Amino acid sequence: MENKENSTATAPKDFVREQVATDLAAKNTSEIITRFPPEPNGYLHIGHAKAICLNFGIAEEFDGRCHLRMDDTNPAKEEEEYIEAIKQDVRWLGFDWGDHLYFASDYFEQLYAWAEHLIENDKAYVDDLTAEEIREYRGTLKQPGKNSPHRDRSREENLDLFRRMRAGDFDEGTRVLRAKIDMGSGNINMRDPVLYRILKAEHPHTGNSWCIYPTYDFAHGQSDAIENVTHSLCTLEFADHRPLYDWLIENLPVPARPRQYEYSRLNISHTVLSKRRLIQLVNENHVQGWDDPRMPTISGMRRRGFPAEALRDFAKRIGVTKSDNLIEMAYLESCVREQLNKVAERRMAVLNPLKLVIENWPEDQEDELEAVNNPEDASAGQRKISFGRELYIERDDFMEDPPKKFFRMAPGREVRLRYAYYVTCTDVVKDESGNITELRCTYDPESRGGDSPDGRKVKATLHWVSAKHAIPFETRIYEHLFADEVPSQGDDFLDGLNKESFKRLENCWGEASLGACQVEKTIQFERLGYFVKDKDSDSSQLVFNRTLPLRDSWAKVQAKSKQK
Ligand code: ATP
Ligand code: MG
Repeated sequence: MENKENSTATAPKDFVREQVATDLAAKNTSEIITRFPPEPNGYLHIGHAKAICLNFGIAEEFDGRCHLRMDDTNPAKEEEEYIEAIKQDVRWLGFDWGDHLYFASDYFEQLYAWAEHLIENDKAYVDDLTAEEIREYRGTLKQPGKNSPHRDRSREENLDLFRRMRAGDFDEGTRVLRAKIDMGSGNINMRDPVLYRILKAEHPHTGNSWCIYPTYDFAHGQSDAIENVTHSLCTLEFADHRPLYDWLIENLPVPARPRQYEYSRLNISHTVLSKRRLIQLVNENHVQGWDDPRMPTISGMRRRGFPAEALRDFAKRIGVTKSDNLIEMAYLESCVREQLNKVAERRMAVLNPLKLVIENWPEDQEDELEAVNNPEDASAGQRKISFGRELYIERDDFMEDPPKKFFRMAPGREVRLRYAYYVTCTDVVKDESGNITELRCTYDPESRGGDSPDGRKVKATLHWVSAKHAIPFETRIYEHLFADEVPSQGDDFLDGLNKESFKRLENCWGEASLGACQVEKTIQFERLGYFVKDKDSDSSQLVFNRTLPLRDSWAKVQAKSKQK
């Protein structure tokens, strides 16, 4: 009983789900069918993740199904690579379309037949105006459009021309098929929109079978109808297209009448979420590919180490509304941290090493200590880590002349080495230019395991690795791709790129168990943050991406004192 109450309390409620529930209750439909309809002209981004979680989520919750449909109507921009990437990303997010993978291009024959149907009913005509003339004739928001001189062609002539368009008799751009609706309509989408254009391009799915292609507007609603989609969910910019979709559905012998509901797009701070912009970042090498860990793409976030579970949680928390919104990247990051804190195994690694030599530790002696893999999950167990006379600690964990609130290592001060021993810094070794090259310490043999021997307290616990046993690796640190919270969305958007969004640390050392880490399995380096092995790793070098830093309390103290 309690469980059930809990689950209804946490089940997302939004206007779309309310509509679906209402439709089911009123028996407007016996079954819920949704779809996620990407155009395979780029990789999916976090905005698409919102759409995927919405469509697949509703299907799961209401015992319906969700189709994955490639809206592949524009061969000039679409590629097989994108189709595969889309499938991989949806699957990785945790959703399954079962047998219901479709392509709008599978419906080309049916769509063509419906185009002829419109012509036969005097609802469509072949126009010879150029693209530019069509734009001029269309008018503006304030001015009505005017009729094309070709608008009143006979059915026979239209049919003949349209068939010859299909047969390849005409050059690209010389003719289009347009719906015959109303050039005076207040809604520009209703001013005789183009339904078919000539494109002599090879299509990733249909090859060279076609040289005319339906526009997105003509293909989209009819594809939904063919698939019996009941709730056709899309973002708000398509609200103005709805009258056109309805007009087409009314004027065609379609097997079903999907209903469209619009919700607001996800916008996130410090990035852009338009495929056109993302393509430009990739093509002009401002990033290293679609899965660059700074990209807002699903594949980029996966490579960065964000778990799928965190993206789903994020989508659930931001919800679905009709109002414009800008979500802080920090909010997504907090969802990622919350998830990783639960599941990530802990390891020790030093990113900026400073050597520490324990003078009272015998040269050839070694010790093996027990470390907890995940304090949040006892089932993750324990592991052994090696300890010896020479260690690396983090350079930032030592200050020769520490200010008041710095509690870590300093001359004469005792600190705990995590899971190991209490050590006291006895000497600081420097090179000729005064740089610290090494610290000398003594340890207390009674403190093995990091326990206080006599109730004596230390204020800091530091992470460390044994110099002899540690393995080297490279770390890649990422910051926001765009410096401004809201980067320009115009053509000058590249000016806003954060020049310091990527940094390499090449001299990092980690405990030996890092060798067994897996790509995409994010771990925590104690006190530093979340990290994940990158696919660039090979037998000669190990590479870790920093997924996110932990929230650093000392950095906060510093930031505060700077403000003062
Ligand atoms: P972009 O504008 O980034 O190129 P798009 O809308 O052209 O995206 P599609 O492949 O057509 O990309 O999108 C597939 C589905 O994902 C559509 O239903 C679309 O409404 C939805 N979608 C795209 N971007 C977002 C977003 N930022 N937030 C929510 N849903 C989105
Ligand atoms: Mg689109």
